[in-house]
Amino acid sequence: MDIPTATLTLKKGRHKPVLNRHPWVFSGAIQAVEGEPSPGDLVNITDQGHNFLARAYYNPHSQIQARILSWAAGEAVDDAFWRRRIERAINGRVTLALQPHTTAYRLINAEADGLPGLVVDQYGDYLVMQCLTLGIDRRKAQLVTLLADICQPRGIIERSDVDVRRKEGLTSSDGLLWGEAPPAEYLIQENGLIFGVDLAQGHKTGFYLDQRDNRALVGQPHIVAGQTVLNLFAYTGGFAVYAAAAQASRIVNVDTSADALAQAERNIDRNGWQRPQDEYLAGDAFEVLRYYRDEGSRFDVIVLDPPKFAHSRRDIDQACRGYKDLNWLALRLLRPGGWLATFSCSGLISADLFQKVLFGAAVDAGRHTQIIRPLGQAADHPIALTFPESAYLKGFLCRTWPW
Ligand code: SAH
Repeated sequence: MDIPTATLTLKKGRHKPVLNRHPWVFSGAIQAVEGEPSPGDLVNITDQGHNFLARAYYNPHSQIQARILSWAAGEAVDDAFWRRRIERAINGRVTLALQPHTTAYRLINAEADGLPGLVVDQYGDYLVMQCLTLGIDRRKAQLVTLLADICQPRGIIERSDVDVRRKEGLTSSDGLLWGEAPPAEYLIQENGLIFGVDLAQGHKTGFYLDQRDNRALVGQPHIVAGQTVLNLFAYTGGFAVYAAAAQASRIVNVDTSADALAQAERNIDRNGWQRPQDEYLAGDAFEVLRYYRDEGSRFDVIVLDPPKFAHSRRDIDQACRGYKDLNWLALRLLRPGGWLATFSCSGLISADLFQKVLFGAAVDAGRHTQIIRPLGQAADHPIALTFPESAYLKGFLCRTWPW
């Protein structure tokens, strides 16, 4: 069992966010550290009057020096604690009724599930785990044992190869943690569609699970049936497979990764319906958009799902220019009445700001553009009200006409 080795006293007035159940304590909020905690240790947090506020794990090398696990005075952080939190998260997914047509989904969404720094995704018989913080990294063996017992998977794979670990003083860590390794191409189902996933090397934990609901929405027949679709930032063809299932006539997939596109083509193949005219362009989406503009091509539906453009506050202006350029180019390629599904997964760019960027793009493109539906991350990636940082994916389904 974890025993607190220190007490962190917060500066005057800095206890408010903790009372409001925000799980992060920044270095600037801490007045004093009593004790000699090692990195990753459990610590108590108190206010100026030495009143207990919360219990957290500690990392002096991170700007976020403490991540709160419990607000209950004296609550033990033992196996039973972790089990309660893990089971609560998993039960939340059971009630989403994703099974049996969807076999891959997020089981544990870190802070939003009361488990700061821990991400666990289920892919059929396998679990993929990401330890984003030192506090979780140090408890990895304990968590793996619990996850194996609770979920009874065939194997647990680690994919802690994310940049944020550097801010915690950690390097990448990948590999099999428990049980047996999955095949190089593991088949999952999403809304009844079949996808091959590379759990060892695919992006994130293998698949962009957070886009599931948006793929289903954009892949409705009234949007794509008989239509031409330009699927930019296609990865392994998530949006393309849905569009093909709804009988789009032509689907052009663009991604810088030739490997991802090869997987996209296999995914189109294996779902086995009448094939659309499907094309795969390994290259830069901006260049492909300019090429089609210069050629005078037009599409009925465009999907824009770029990677994160803003990694820190310094990047926000530049990221907005990138999003504006992309959307400006895409809007001008759409036929009158065409659909644009556009996304940003930059947590630092709010839905409001993204909407303003889109407004700028539409005005400059000279297109009357309607938001038909604001979009966000799938239901298995919940957003804690006390932790707005957990809302990172935003998007809009739009229709557009020349002015
Ligand atoms: N829509 C996909 C997920 C896209 S993730 C799905 O539903 O699964 C973003 C993708 O953009 C990654 O596959 C990455 O390889 C690709 N990418 C990054 N920069 C790019 C660029 N400049 N042009 C084209 N693709 C790019």
